[in-house]
Amino acid sequence: MAAPVDHGQALAKVEREGACRNCGSASDLWPVYTVGAEKQNEPWHELSALLWVHPDAVVPLCAECRQLRSRGRLSLLDLLTEEEQNNAVRAAGGILPAVKALVMKGGN
Ligand SMILES: [Zn+2]
Repeated sequence: MAAPVDHGQALAKVEREGACRNCGSASDLWPVYTVGAEKQNEPWHELSALLWVHPDAVVPLCAECRQLRSRGRLSLLDLLTEEEQNNAVRAAGGILPAVKALVMKGGN
């Protein structure tokens, strides 16, 4: 069984920014992982089975841009903050896998 995942901070970030990182739309926003989700969820602490989504692991995208992204037709490379870039490099295990994952569909 998969561990429960807390998206609270990721959702709060999307709400705070209030616009799609790609097109600027303010409607139907989703937190979308920059690189592979399974690599970015972290335990709350060493004794907890609950995972949490680091806010730097996601960017807000509208439903339309999220679909483009899931089809591998939207690169996130130019859309990330410095913190998000650093987080993606760490989570992907290097700059080259991070760039590949950001340009193509996340995590592959
Ligand atoms: Zn959009």
